Amino acid sequence: MFNVLKGTHDVILDEARQYSYVEELLTKVASLYNYKEFRTPIIESSDLFLRSVGEGSDIVRKEMYTFYDKGDRLITLRPEMTAGTIRSMVNNKLFANQDFPIKAFYVGPNFRYERPQQGRYRQFNQFGIECCGVNSPYRDAEVISLGYNALKMLGFSNLKLKINYLGDEESRSKYRDALRDYFGNKIDEMCDDCKERFNKNVLRILDCKVPHDIEIVKDAPRIRDYLSENSKKYFSSILEFLDRIGVEYELDDNLVRGLDYYTGVVFEYHYVSNLGKNYGALGGGGHYSNLINEIGGPNLEGVGLAFGIERLVSVMQDDNLFDDLKSNLDVYIMPLGEKVLESANSLANFLRLNGFSTDICLENKNMSQMFKKAERRNASFAVIIGEDELNNDCIILKNLHTKEQIQVNNEDLLDKLDELFDEEEHHHHEEN
Ligand code: AMP
Repeated sequence: MFNVLKGTHDVILDEARQYSYVEELLTKVASLYNYKEFRTPIIESSDLFLRSVGEGSDIVRKEMYTFYDKGDRLITLRPEMTAGTIRSMVNNKLFANQDFPIKAFYVGPNFRYERPQQGRYRQFNQFGIECCGVNSPYRDAEVISLGYNALKMLGFSNLKLKINYLGDEESRSKYRDALRDYFGNKIDEMCDDCKERFNKNVLRILDCKVPHDIEIVKDAPRIRDYLSENSKKYFSSILEFLDRIGVEYELDDNLVRGLDYYTGVVFEYHYVSNLGKNYGALGGGGHYSNLINEIGGPNLEGVGLAFGIERLVSVMQDDNLFDDLKSNLDVYIMPLGEKVLESANSLANFLRLNGFSTDICLENKNMSQMFKKAERRNASFAVIIGEDELNNDCIILKNLHTKEQIQVNNEDLLDKLDELFDEEEHHHHEEN
């Protein structure tokens, strides 16, 4: 017996359809905003993440899947997709033609050696976007609203969008000094992670989840009091535009995010499902001023976000947002006896070639057992073929929702199915 590895999970059957549905919708939304797909390798040189995600981050300090390959290269399974996406922009010289912004979206698996818990896996999927070569509050707002609107389109109703502004280098440097002053005589009683953060990246202490530390963080200096005039102006432009297009948000002074490359605006989408479960942030992102340059590109800025697909799907399952996704078989064929098998199977082939999803019962079952199988497969129609039908070039067509049943000549079957599916669709629209 083999089991899935700790922190990993199989996505199969109906749940896999839910994943595809979510990924397709997010992809469609990205296209509405003119983002283009990037598919980059899952393995990258470890240095890429040291440089970008940052030595001070939890990810680099303890969560990366890193190994030497047979050619002695130090390799890491990507823990996030921003770094690889920007690396590919640099390698493929997309910055060379000066046509900005470069708008990328991506979907795929990521790996972090974290302690598995609700909503937290070691292999998980992300959808994300990066908008590179920009420096406009409108672009930042565009990315924030893309995420917000995507969640609305998925059916999320009580979203909580948290926003903070980390400021330009000058503002942040003053703020870091203030934090070091404040935590200096308290750090001894704080957790080990915070002690390390104090030295490597003091901002990250604000993000600590240990209750005792949260109490200390409460009275820490606030970034908003250290923002330069330019930063303040830029931030309020973003917020004004979000107000104008109806994106609701709340300001959160302690939001810093787990990746070191963010500089300007940072944001996270939170949501508590109707069952009261909290899966953590569904997604988040921010503006980065130095990342593109750090990865070998020009001195340009960017803004991006990423959602965790696992978390989106869990919340949607809890809140029954997948209701429409159930039925997925058009026709279930029920052959009555050995003699009709050949024509029943060729009918299945014919229907599939004409675009109707079709399955057939080849197990030796009686009528009522076959109807049960059709029901379990969520079939819309049953096609029954017995010897009488075979001899008369016809079949029995049963609508499994209305239970109406008619005899149809083989040559009329396609037209009849088209007609009935149109009616079903119409009926379905009226119900909604
Ligand atoms: P990050 O790349 O850390 O900004 O995370 C972006 C989003 O990815 C988070 O808001 C989560 O939805 C998701 N995510 C991050 N880490 C995990 C994990 N270990 N398991 C599942 N989802 C995750």
